[in-house]
Amino acid sequence: MHKSIETIVGDTEGVSYEFPVFRFSGASAGAPSAYLQAALHGGELPGVVAIDALMPKLRRAADEGRVLGNITVVPWANPIGRAQYQFGDHQGRFHFGTRNNFNRDFPLLEKPDASLLPPEVPGPADKSLKRRLVALSMGHDIVLDLHCDDEGVPYLYVPAQLWPAMADCAAAMGVEAVVLWQGASGGAFEEASIHPYLQMPAGEAKLDQRVVTTVEYRGVVDVERDLAQADADGLYRLLVARGVVDDKTIAAPSAFAGVVAPLENIEMVTTPKAGAVLYDVKPGDRVRAGQRLATIVHAPGEKNGSLEIAAPQAGFVLTRRSIRVLPAGGDVIKLVGERRSADARTGALED
Ligand SMILES: [Zn+2]
Repeated sequence: MHKSIETIVGDTEGVSYEFPVFRFSGASAGAPSAYLQAALHGGELPGVVAIDALMPKLRRAADEGRVLGNITVVPWANPIGRAQYQFGDHQGRFHFGTRNNFNRDFPLLEKPDASLLPPEVPGPADKSLKRRLVALSMGHDIVLDLHCDDEGVPYLYVPAQLWPAMADCAAAMGVEAVVLWQGASGGAFEEASIHPYLQMPAGEAKLDQRVVTTVEYRGVVDVERDLAQADADGLYRLLVARGVVDDKTIAAPSAFAGVVAPLENIEMVTTPKAGAVLYDVKPGDRVRAGQRLATIVHAPGEKNGSLEIAAPQAGFVLTRRSIRVLPAGGDVIKLVGERRSADARTGALED
């Protein structure tokens, strides 16, 4: 294994950012390669600790000559977001300097060739970081971007063109749901990873062998030793299933039995009034149309001081909020509906 340090020049003199990259060289020239990164949104750590638990398995496989394809690992992909604290609270989703989401506006290349990236010029630093991450990941057959949601089940975003070929990956990772998207996503890292291959003839792009996904490892507080180990096991099973690592002790993934739905089926259930949220349901619950999902206490102590939020259709509760104070218009629940949402969205679900 080889460790190197990437440096991103900051926006003022005397400031720069560093992050390590670990590379395993594959022993078999024809084997698929894999790229894993975590915490693109700087404070989303379930994937960081999953990678920490995965690395000993990869080191052991390397020592035993079982790493077949090249593997590149970036455990904490965003040193800029990692350093952003505001009055003691961590803020890793948007770059303070530009207000841009760290997972939007990645460069979309017409070919999977990092030399086509525009040159890195001084400032803004988040733009340089995005170009660097595309350069590090481009050309790998498997690209896994490990995030987490607010409070949620483990689930994947997958380009619709890669489904159902990626069902084995979802099964290997043990996620509970898969959301399929196509078209534009606002330039998320996942879109930048698949875009060049969608410009090619299908035979050349080999989409059936390609893996690109944004992994949502439950919620922000689900940073636990047991979960990290289970997620590392899932990542390892995926790498074995796809022939990146050889391990005869690992069984092939069974059929994926979780929820699969297009992004258009997602109901972003919001509250019309600001207040305290009292949930009736939790991630993983199945609900009926019209079922009460939550009560919003907007005028505490008053008659009619609360309102009920009902499910717009039957479905599966994917996520809810980890905070209990919500503004008017704020998201309450992400529900995977059984049919297209009346408020169907394309592209990114959230800012
Ligand atoms: Zn994220």
